[in-house]
Amino acid sequence: MTIRKVPMRTCVACQTTRPKRELVRVVRTAAGTLVLDRRGKVSGRGAYICPDPDCVHKALTGHRLERALEVQLTDELVAELQRIERGSV
Ligand SMILES: [Zn+2]
Repeated sequence: MTIRKVPMRTCVACQTTRPKRELVRVVRTAAGTLVLDRRGKVSGRGAYICPDPDCVHKALTGHRLERALEVQLTDELVAELQRIERGSV
């Protein structure tokens, strides 16, 4: 067995470093729109957040995603994040 290096990313809310695939990625695309990227395939500037209600709440109330991505969150994205916050994903 070979040991593979797991890509690590930091959550914008709690600053915890976790394997990339355990985090939710929010991407600002080249067109300037924000999308929730669940598969890690969308190119663009990304910010990472734990799929955890506390972290989502913190990120939304503290405007941490906006700051990390330098863009306003869209209502659509906020709604998607709020679904995670409610634990229904
Ligand atoms: Zn977190």
